Amino acid sequence: MHCYNHADRDAVGTCKGCCKGLCLECAVDLGYGLSCRGPHEQRVAEVEELISRNASVQRVAGTAKYAAPALFIFIGLVFAGFGLFFARSGQFVVITGMGFLAFGFYMLIANRRAFGTTAPMPSTSLERTRER
Ligand SMILES: [Zn+2]
Ligand SMILES: [Zn+2]
Repeated sequence: MHCYNHADRDAVGTCKGCCKGLCLECAVDLGYGLSCRGPHEQRVAEVEELISRNASVQRVAGTAKYAAPALFIFIGLVFAGFGLFFARSGQFVVITGMGFLAFGFYMLIANRRAFGTTAPMPSTSLERTRER
């Protein structure tokens, strides 16, 4: 690939903002990637900040993924148990409890799907060493 601005020079990399080839003179090394000089310097830095901020949010959410479903399941058990043991309080309480339970389990499954890919897989390296 050749530099977008200098057709006679080889590109050392591509801008993360516009994917154009850049030579040493045109490229700005941001530490985590290259950018062309100009507006993309700021833009690429902003995108990178957004990604790292998003990643930290995902980490926090990943550790708390069982907290919210567990709370709903707990409330559901309290309601359902209360309704069953004190029959006079009526079916409504039991149904409300079942609703909380169902929602808690739904959240649990949905959260596992959403954050399951971020979970570490220690088995893969083990299997690789066994194959050798
Ligand atoms: Zn660019
Ligand atoms: Zn150039």
